[in-house]
Amino acid sequence: MTVGRERITIGLAADAPAQATTAGAGADGTRAQLFAEVLTAGPLSRTQLAQRTGLSQSTVTKVVNPLIEAGYVAETGEHSVGVGRPQRLLEVAASRHAVIGVKLAPGTVTGVLTDLRAQVLCVRERRLTAGHDPAAAISAAAAVVLDLMASDRGAPDRLIGVGVGVGGHVDPGAGRVVHSGILGWDEVAVAAPLGAATGLPTVVGNDVDALAVAERWFGLGRGVDTFALVTVGPGIGCGLFLGGELFTGSSGLAGELGHIPVRADGEECGCGRRGCLETVASDEAILRGIERAGGARPASIEDAVRLARAGDAAAAAAFTSMGEELGRALATLGNLINPARIILAGERADAFDLFGQSCENAWRAHSFSTASRDCALTVDVTDDAQWARGAACLVIREAVAG
Ligand SMILES: [Zn+2]
Repeated sequence: MTVGRERITIGLAADAPAQATTAGAGADGTRAQLFAEVLTAGPLSRTQLAQRTGLSQSTVTKVVNPLIEAGYVAETGEHSVGVGRPQRLLEVAASRHAVIGVKLAPGTVTGVLTDLRAQVLCVRERRLTAGHDPAAAISAAAAVVLDLMASDRGAPDRLIGVGVGVGGHVDPGAGRVVHSGILGWDEVAVAAPLGAATGLPTVVGNDVDALAVAERWFGLGRGVDTFALVTVGPGIGCGLFLGGELFTGSSGLAGELGHIPVRADGEECGCGRRGCLETVASDEAILRGIERAGGARPASIEDAVRLARAGDAAAAAAFTSMGEELGRALATLGNLINPARIILAGERADAFDLFGQSCENAWRAHSFSTASRDCALTVDVTDDAQWARGAACLVIREAVAG
């Protein structure tokens, strides 16, 4: 569904010479499929591309050669297997286009300029003083985008669009945030006003789904068809790749791990319900846990981390407890979808030394049969620029889809 906004495209069909269409019916889809394969798994030879996609080598050659002529794919190096002529390797010409990704967080807007392989070229950030006001946040996001366009790497003629990542329930088709507990937003249009302010096509998506796409294409999810990305920090999020596809559910709500109920009558959650996982395993839960264990409430979560690392018993206990809660939730997740990998990310993944052991113990103890043995638990610490890079991947994903 693309109601109400401009689709992002890099004009693969428009720029490529006409013979690309002789690949037959569905040539646009084949072109997008091959481009995505080279983008995420390159460098690859034409033979490897044919093997990976199940297409014939002549189809690969027919579709790929115009992409090379149009400057989207470059030949690089050689690959030789056994006897026969070595084959040239193909990779995406990453600098052919640039993309901007924006992370909207409480109090901060972070933007990155990336190339087509989501390599970060430039980072800009603005602090917000007007609390959670949507108009102020969108105007700050526009300022960040314009800053990036004006940077020496900006090259507006190469820019194809802006991706915005928001924590919460997002309707990408309509370009709006349906509900974001962390920003306190309900029914806020983002793509249209930001696009109008910057003149660039704009896509908005759930920030964790966007990060999952980045992991799948360029990170720890490469080559892993079924994995879960679980983010810990101010909130708890989850992005799912099932059988090689991003799974967002029937209305974009899949993966709300932070709001699975874990206490019948627990603390009130930011979502308005009680006893959600976020009430026992988020940053706020750790701060409250320190008080419950007899310590003074630290001024910030960073102070809590420092205290725990310095050996403070109350702080250490709070992280251990958070790890147990998270580990049980990971077992629930694993028992549901049987992932080959769980990537633990988000801001608080940097404190894995404090909660990792209790998390892993609880995860293994509550996993059904071989679910945890069949799954690798890996950690990838995420800062604001990486969140924004994930949002840039939303643009690349849409552009590649053609
Ligand atoms: Zn909740």
